[in-house]
Amino acid sequence: MFEVDLQGVPQRAFTGALPAPTDIDDLVRQAHARYASHREGSVADYIPILAEAPPDLFGISVVDVAGGAHEHGDADHAFSIQSISKAFVFALVCEAIGHQAVHDRVGVNNTGLPFNSVMALELNGGCPMNPMVNAGAIATTALMPAASHDERWARVRDGLSRFAGRELEIDAEVYRSEMRTNTRNRAIARLLEGYGRLETDPDAVVDTYTRQCALTVTAHDLAVMGATLADGGVNPITGARVVSAEVARDTLAVLASCGMYERSGEWLYEIGVPAKSGVAGGIVAVSPGKGAIGVFSPPLDSAGNSVRGQRVCAFLSRALGLNLFASQPAPVPSPAPHPSDNTEAP
Ligand code: GLN
Repeated sequence: MFEVDLQGVPQRAFTGALPAPTDIDDLVRQAHARYASHREGSVADYIPILAEAPPDLFGISVVDVAGGAHEHGDADHAFSIQSISKAFVFALVCEAIGHQAVHDRVGVNNTGLPFNSVMALELNGGCPMNPMVNAGAIATTALMPAASHDERWARVRDGLSRFAGRELEIDAEVYRSEMRTNTRNRAIARLLEGYGRLETDPDAVVDTYTRQCALTVTAHDLAVMGATLADGGVNPITGARVVSAEVARDTLAVLASCGMYERSGEWLYEIGVPAKSGVAGGIVAVSPGKGAIGVFSPPLDSAGNSVRGQRVCAFLSRALGLNLFASQPAPVPSPAPHPSDNTEAP
């Protein structure tokens, strides 16, 4: 992971509310200015079209649970959601089939291996374990109840759109580019089938999974989607309930342990919020009861996480008081007055 350079950034405790809206605006601008000139990382190229993304694009959005938006830079630039879709499809499938069924059929533990690992499946007898890497996400998408593949795709797209509060569209070029090159995901789906872990056609599930990854979002959309999980499953902009509060809680628990692939432990140690990243350069980071950060910057580290995105989240988590583990001592209550202290005449 990157070395955290947060000199001079005061740590605000999680305890209490977010800073005032104008202070959030200001901190978002500061985060953008602080990291705009950073040049580390490289743009993903294993999906050929992603290699064309301009590395300088950089947008930040913070959406709070009251629906306030605080943004700077390319916060309205559209890019493919990629792996970040895994978080929200997981939530939709939990909502559809329940907490225990997802636990039993996919699992909720980190594999400690890269997102496209085949080895992780082999080591665990075909159990994907982690719904935030490709094997687990393909297995999760397959669990979305539907009478046909078209209906499954419609339910996935509609659910992700409700999280975003607007109709999400596919980037057809990204979809085609990935379908031409996703032999590894097809192999993973076949392996799941071989282990008896897929009750539907493997090629059709990979097609649906590839479509969900090719939906386009902006940093603003990611922040709204994350803020819906922060707000007990209710979209703070549309006011619509997307999933139950229990499902939002379960999803954030999985994001905390698995959302940043094999770097999830380091992420929690440095930044302290549930989060999910995608190879197009997006990250969503969620602070329960407060709001979410959506950030977009295409250059990635070796695990596939946006480098500037991680830095921005480290800065804002600290400055906005988003880190779940950053408490401050409770004020010592002043002792209650004793009745005999009452010196007033009756
Ligand atoms: N669609 C990509 C894949 O399956 C998503 C991976 C990612 O964002 N890490 O490889």
